[in-house]
Amino acid sequence: MNGNSNGAIPHVNGGLAVPCCVKVKVPEFFWKGLDNLLGRCALALERMLPHRDWSSSKYYGDLVPCVVSKSLIAKYQQNSKCCRIRNIVIPVCGDKGKQIKLVEGGIRVPALFKKAVLPVNWPRSIVGHVRSIELFRREGEWFASICYHAAKDPPVACEGVIGVDRNSVGNIAVFADPQIGTVRKLGICPARTKFVFRRRRKNLQRAGKTRLLKKLHRKQRRRMSYENHRVTRAVVDYAATHRRAVVMEHLEGVTAKDSKIRGYSEKNQWAFAQFGSMLRYKCALRGIPLIEVDPAFTSQTCSRCGSIHRPDGKRFECLTCGHNDHRDANSGFAIAQRGLKILSDGSSSGLRVSELRPIGGPRAETIGASYARK
Ligand SMILES: [Zn+2]
Repeated sequence: MNGNSNGAIPHVNGGLAVPCCVKVKVPEFFWKGLDNLLGRCALALERMLPHRDWSSSKYYGDLVPCVVSKSLIAKYQQNSKCCRIRNIVIPVCGDKGKQIKLVEGGIRVPALFKKAVLPVNWPRSIVGHVRSIELFRREGEWFASICYHAAKDPPVACEGVIGVDRNSVGNIAVFADPQIGTVRKLGICPARTKFVFRRRRKNLQRAGKTRLLKKLHRKQRRRMSYENHRVTRAVVDYAATHRRAVVMEHLEGVTAKDSKIRGYSEKNQWAFAQFGSMLRYKCALRGIPLIEVDPAFTSQTCSRCGSIHRPDGKRFECLTCGHNDHRDANSGFAIAQRGLKILSDGSSSGLRVSELRPIGGPRAETIGASYARK
């Protein structure tokens, strides 16, 4: 229906690695040097932001090391939307192992710490070089978030599919497994948390407590990402143990005014796009194929006979064949069926098997091409 024809879906690869990020605490031994560097970064940024055309590291050589000024330019100066920075982070680009060296037990950044090693406990085995790190201070302590490529698990040989339906009322997601008929409802009710948070926000807004308001906003965001992590984890675990491919609706990148995702997130303030990206990278890491299908009418299509009827609340009743089911379960089955169809004929237009795209990799391929390779 929407968005599938514009080719803006950045996916599909045969790569072996997935971009990943790990956050580590920087040992106290480094803190003094970092505090000092942060001050100099602030000075460099004061010079950078009013002069957007001074985009060479030579203008800042007296303040910060070249590798840091280059990253600062890329992160802040070349970002035209950035005009004021409250929490400066110190970005360092790995430059294919030249600036960030991988050593036993951690990483080494010669430009900043000479020979000292920043200990890192890799949650997954790293492929190639460290891409970049960002150093930042939170409540007096220094942390580093390190971007790297993690090795993928070997692809799972699938024996079926599950359809995942994202919801705004009821549960965050419902998945249905048509092979054995399992339906599982996962997560809290997005609409309810929205309601609770909205009321608290309203009170704070009336009282003019903006700082608390921001705190609440952050809390809500943490809650959402926590729930999204929990639910996507459950979906991926199920898919891995039962050898299923995951099918979900392609809701991202849809800019049409009446699109489903926009309606969802505006009404409910639930991070459905975040859910999608989490599911995507988790599937990629575990070697589970993920198929994204056209989202049109999934909640109105009868999963038995394919005719279209409007569900009544959470109940779905097919007037053609008499099939009677929970609305979300029915749409889960309908989504799974669309996925199965793609798996079997492999040529449907505008539908793709998606995975995370490696940096610098091909932007998009059609599903036909990706299956021809196997
Ligand atoms: Zn029917």
